[in-house]
Amino acid sequence: MSDMETVEEFRARARAWIKGNLGPQQPWDLSQNCDSDEEELKAVARDRGLQRKFFDAGFGGICFPKEYGGQGLTHDHLRAFNEELAGYEYPSRFTVPTFTPCATVLLEFGTPEQKARHIPAILKGDEFWAQLLSEPGGGSDVAGITTRATRVNDERGDGWLINGAKVWTSRAWWHDWGLLLARTNWDVPKHTGMTVFILPLQQPGIEISRIERLSGETEACQEFFTDVFVPDSDRIGEIDSGWTVGTRWMYHERVGHNSPYVTRPAGLGHQASAEGPTVVRIARDGGADLEDPSVLELIGEHRALDIVTHELQRRIANAAASGYGNKDLSSIDRLFRGVAKVRQATIALDLAGHAASAWTEEEEGATGATGMNFLMRQVVCIGGGTTEISRNVVAERVLGMPREPSGDKNVPFKDVQRGPKRG
Ligand SMILES: Cc1cc2nc3c(=O)[nH]c(=O)nc-3n(C[C@H](O)[C@H](O)[C@H](O)COP(=O)(O)OP(=O)(O)OC[C@H]3O[C@@H](n4cnc5c(N)ncnc54)[C@H](O)[C@@H]3O)c2cc1C
Repeated sequence: MSDMETVEEFRARARAWIKGNLGPQQPWDLSQNCDSDEEELKAVARDRGLQRKFFDAGFGGICFPKEYGGQGLTHDHLRAFNEELAGYEYPSRFTVPTFTPCATVLLEFGTPEQKARHIPAILKGDEFWAQLLSEPGGGSDVAGITTRATRVNDERGDGWLINGAKVWTSRAWWHDWGLLLARTNWDVPKHTGMTVFILPLQQPGIEISRIERLSGETEACQEFFTDVFVPDSDRIGEIDSGWTVGTRWMYHERVGHNSPYVTRPAGLGHQASAEGPTVVRIARDGGADLEDPSVLELIGEHRALDIVTHELQRRIANAAASGYGNKDLSSIDRLFRGVAKVRQATIALDLAGHAASAWTEEEEGATGATGMNFLMRQVVCIGGGTTEISRNVVAERVLGMPREPSGDKNVPFKDVQRGPKRG
């Protein structure tokens, strides 16, 4: 018989620890945005400390294997912990992309040495990981990457030299390590000539620049790699098998916060507070007539989208945790989340009326973030792969419809035309 703690015993222990040791949830747990770099670095240090606190108390990586510092418990234990965590602070910066997809890819494809070196360090709050997939030439066609890894064997040992550029990497400027997809073979078709590597991000040869968004945020980064040496022992998976690793990487990315490896308060983002659902506060603060049937209809639609998003995520997370169901089901959740968030941002703007503004929620009450959320509504349809690509995945890999035609599938990558035709 298993000597694993029951979910209810675990829940009681978790509840007592959470109540006794954690403060209330903070506004930045949802948005992660800070007013200055200085504040952001403070928040990063705070998250490192909080993650360490979770680890020391035995709650650092509930579903991670015991041999790598986790608790080796089930998804049901994690769910119980996340439910108890609702309303409390947590190390939000560790969830995505550090725990998933980076740590999950390491768990799935890393060597025992790589896992022993990095998984405990991640769980102790010592390492933040970024994902280096998208390139200036395009992010949707992941297999079209041109960042190059060239084999070398010199005084530094057996390894690879990385040259090229990655872009849109979230907050790379303070991250410790990166998971990188690079081209290692130009003589074979594009899906068969890539390899995954891990590397420290803050090192000579990697120049990180920041990109300013319409909102003024500078979380997105671009990295330029010039002759960066990576030992062969920091290769993930077989040489040229980067697509095998990469498809699982993108799967874990789509599962995102629903992953059994992510500790995060239940219901976060499923916006409600003691004063009721956020959408009702927006309507009230915006001066909408709460007796007007058309206002009630919009509020109802907003709430229905919230509830469907939540339930869909729950069902897909259950399917993923149980190992049943098509592994590409996560694309349905990713697609729905994008479409629903865009519609909700539009409804909120309508309800807030003239009170909608592009200032922060702290300054303007519930309606404060409405204008900015509306302006930024497409972001959720792009990050983690676009909703268009999700539609393709659902069509081809869930519904079994014919694959999109592609002219470069069986052509050596060096012969694939990139950029406009000349002459
Ligand atoms: C908030 C945020 C965070 C991000 N974080 C990271 C990160 O940490 N690391 C990282 O590597 N990347 C990150 N990205 C980048 C993201 O993965 C890419 O922006 C995304 O994959 C799209 O790539 P692209 O912007 O190059 O657009 P493109 O690939 O150039 O696509 C342009 C448009 O064409 C559409 N399109 C392209 N191909 C097809 C097709 N076959 N069928 C139908 N439509 C198609 C796309 O859907 C899109 O609308 C982030 C993006 C955002 C917004």
